[in-house]
Amino acid sequence: MLVGVPREIKTKEFRVGLTPTSVRELAHNGHQVLVESGAGDGIGFPDQDYTEAGASIVGTAAEVFEKAEMIVKVKEPQPQECKMLREDQVLFTYLHLAPDLTQTQGLLDSGSIAIAYETVTDRHGRLPLLAPMSEVAGRMSVQVGAHCLEKEQQGKGVLLGGVPGVNPAKVVILGGGVSGMNAARMAMGMSAEVTVIDKSLERLNELDTIFDSRLNTIYSTVDAIEAHCVEADLVIGCVLVPGAAAPKLVTRKMVSEMAPGTVLVDVAIDQGGCFETSKATTHDNPAYLVDDVVHYCVANMPGAVARTSTQALNNATLPFTLALANKGWKRALAENEHLMQGLNVAHGQITYAAVAEAHGMSS
Ligand code: NAD
Repeated sequence: MLVGVPREIKTKEFRVGLTPTSVRELAHNGHQVLVESGAGDGIGFPDQDYTEAGASIVGTAAEVFEKAEMIVKVKEPQPQECKMLREDQVLFTYLHLAPDLTQTQGLLDSGSIAIAYETVTDRHGRLPLLAPMSEVAGRMSVQVGAHCLEKEQQGKGVLLGGVPGVNPAKVVILGGGVSGMNAARMAMGMSAEVTVIDKSLERLNELDTIFDSRLNTIYSTVDAIEAHCVEADLVIGCVLVPGAAAPKLVTRKMVSEMAPGTVLVDVAIDQGGCFETSKATTHDNPAYLVDDVVHYCVANMPGAVARTSTQALNNATLPFTLALANKGWKRALAENEHLMQGLNVAHGQITYAAVAEAHGMSS
């Protein structure tokens, strides 16, 4: 199969659909790969790395879209990209179609086969192509939280790990799923005193087994959230209720009772945030104050570490990319019910019920 990788065109998007390592795997399996010149420049994958891995470099996105049988990207196609998609061409990328009628219509008009990373499932019913970005955001939340605790950033002036003779910082993590567990691992690695609050006893059991007594696990109630968050130096919001907006677990009143310079990092901001005082920010201006409490609410945290994020995403997508290239989309989907869950649009029809419902169309 001829696989195409255009350069991402959304503002400040440096990730790329395929790494040179993935290109080499595809080439090893007998496929041809076309990469738009400069696609990996922003994250240290120059054109030469792609050619050494077996790709051909072309000058424009138009050439990639014109020739490739399957396009592999990261972000949803922009209007000018939708226009270049062809009947029967496969598109494999994040789509997030439910809130985006323009893109949905663009894909329907193209007649292409659009397979969304975010709806591919695994045998546990989880979303394996979303998990790498949650891992990245969870780990990064501690790094940014530690930075925000510095005096220069209007934090308390507290070092996460303390020093011998001085207490470490108290870190409270709301939600111990993929991002929460990764945040806990990083915070413990920096010798902070870490508490995870989750409403799933099964999850708390798993975390207790993994981290033993180094991690405090607490069942999620209003009492517990209030008691732990008001005393914390750093609170990290990692809750998710699938298909729903994040619950506002930390109220405005709780925020007003926190010490000045306390830091809140709301990883769940892409689902509306779990602090009542959260509003989405960008990497340009990531934090703001409410009652002297620092709020960091960047909705696209993995974008800041685009090289790691690209590699993590490729590790998760590569088996599916290879299956699509080796078998063709029809057989690859027929033989894998989890990849089948990724199919959102095909031949001018929405094929994913939740997307059709969101736009009042039939699937
Ligand atoms: P996950 O499903 O793995 O974990 C969510 C956890 O929240 C679960 O353990 C669940 O039991 C717990 N939970 C639900 N309601 C709760 C409550 N009332 N009290 C305590 N715990 C509760 O989810 P995840 O993959 O870790 O993702 C978390 C959020 O981070 C999602 O909204 C995701 O979209 C978001 N995210 C944001 C970024 C970013 O850049 N900001 C990046 C990646 C993911």
